[in-house]
Amino acid sequence: MPTIRHTPSRMAVLRTVKFAVEPLTAAEVGIRLKAQAIKRSTIFRNLQALVAAGEIASMESRDGTTRYIGHLYHEAIFRCQRCHKERRLKSRSLPAYVDRKMFGHQAIIASQLIAQGLCSSCTRKIHV
Ligand SMILES: [Zn+2]
Repeated sequence: MPTIRHTPSRMAVLRTVKFAVEPLTAAEVGIRLKAQAIKRSTIFRNLQALVAAGEIASMESRDGTTRYIGHLYHEAIFRCQRCHKERRLKSRSLPAYVDRKMFGHQAIIASQLIAQGLCSSCTRKIHV
């Protein structure tokens, strides 16, 4: 893992992402750091460096944006393929199968699971 310099702006970005409950976009990090007047490009560069150093994780969100998270985070989404309803479950711990059993001794920060099928009301409609 590369070592990185911890400049004041990088530390501010790191703290913002680490203390956020939910994964944040670069723009959301910028809004939270508005009082510190850190340039948008600096925030983005710092996010990239922190991901490369393994201090935070980046994850693709459902709307195609990249979000950043700084603590263990698991998100499971169930999507009904008939009515397109989604159910989202979040956790601050990783499921056991994501950790050592599946990938060995990796430093995993975040995981996402997407399950698809029929929701209970769509299942009932089909069987009636
Ligand atoms: Zn459904």
